[in-house]
Amino acid sequence: MSRGLSKLQHSILAILDAKHGMASTTTLKTAMDRPISDQSFYRSIHSLEKRGEIRFYRGGHTGGLVCRTHGNVLLIDSDAPPEPTPAFPNLALMKLSAYHKACGDYVTLLRGLKIADGFEKKFDIAYISCVFTKNARAARRLAKRLSTSMEVHLGGSGVDLKTTLPAEIENTFPDYELYPECDYSIGMTMRGCTRSCPFCIIKDKEGTSRPTGDIYAFYNPNFKSKKIVLLDNNILGLPAHFAKIASQIKKEGLRVDWNQGLDLRLVTPENAKILAGLHFSPYMRFAWDDIKSEPQIRRGIQILKENGALKNPAVFYVLSGFNSTFEEDLYRVKTLRDLGQKAFLMLYDKKLLEEPRYRHLSNWTNARVHFFTRTFEEFVTNRENGVEKQKAAERKQRLEAKKNPPPILHGCEISLI
Ligand code: SF4
Repeated sequence: MSRGLSKLQHSILAILDAKHGMASTTTLKTAMDRPISDQSFYRSIHSLEKRGEIRFYRGGHTGGLVCRTHGNVLLIDSDAPPEPTPAFPNLALMKLSAYHKACGDYVTLLRGLKIADGFEKKFDIAYISCVFTKNARAARRLAKRLSTSMEVHLGGSGVDLKTTLPAEIENTFPDYELYPECDYSIGMTMRGCTRSCPFCIIKDKEGTSRPTGDIYAFYNPNFKSKKIVLLDNNILGLPAHFAKIASQIKKEGLRVDWNQGLDLRLVTPENAKILAGLHFSPYMRFAWDDIKSEPQIRRGIQILKENGALKNPAVFYVLSGFNSTFEEDLYRVKTLRDLGQKAFLMLYDKKLLEEPRYRHLSNWTNARVHFFTRTFEEFVTNRENGVEKQKAAERKQRLEAKKNPPPILHGCEISLI
């Protein structure tokens, strides 16, 4: 963009950038590090205008206004709740933001798909990211509406499995300022998966398993949390890469969360020893999707325990309602509880919640307070008798009392009682 510019033109652009993209000609000339003749100054201004680097509005008592030509970029995170929450930064948008900012563009993030009439007029280009299929229709509708006035790109696994970021954007260090509430590093060091589970899109979307980089492509040492979230799909399927990433995490003293889950069927005494040396936050995550994997699940837990890698209960995602009966789902959850592990029920079809037995199973499994303190049968009986409701009300009361403790009574007040 700036190739072939003279020293003077570079100075003009640098001053404009320092002044947030806008300055009068008088201000520009005063800010130069040496006196410049009007002739050279205006020649440079006209040449920059011709190149499309600036816009020059002539006139006024200040001689004219010079504005840096920037693109206005709108990034739309379809899946983000309206209120910022640290749990959901969108990595693709963070990379797009970094890339556009490096090009000198102005970037705005919109959370969710609600956009006021006319708001879009300010922007030259929009990127809409949609990860969850439940938001796909609304995201497509918005893309259609915006495309009448600007260039629009729609992507994300909710709408399309094939669109990827161009390599120069994919390899950009993410812009953490886009989500100020995110206080940890986030990224992925691999793509694809060695397996092709019938309910999963990864194999279709990313192909076979391969390393794509290391933590230094996105690790931000400035975060006090010392936490890194890795979106790797199945890193234990790449033993050498796993060992390399684990040693980087250890070297930097980080707490790690492989939040897509690790594959317990691939746990060996070798990788279990490495896992034992890592600090997990909040916990290790695995999945038990198919009842037929029971022997591998039991064996994996055993290996982890023998190698000191399971100091706290791990969380197991339990896929429910996909090629499995209710009884099989309940069996997996209860088995994990008996093995001292925590289950998290993932309903393949949310409509199953219309059935009371799935509702009970989901509520019992996914709440720590119920899962470890009562059996499923006790939970269901309590619910039917209204005991759970009463206990929930008592819990709420206790929490509120903790939040608003009664005032401390001083001697004089006590004597008044
Ligand atoms: S192992 Fe995990 S990432 Fe790989 S295909 Fe199965 S569900 Fe998807």
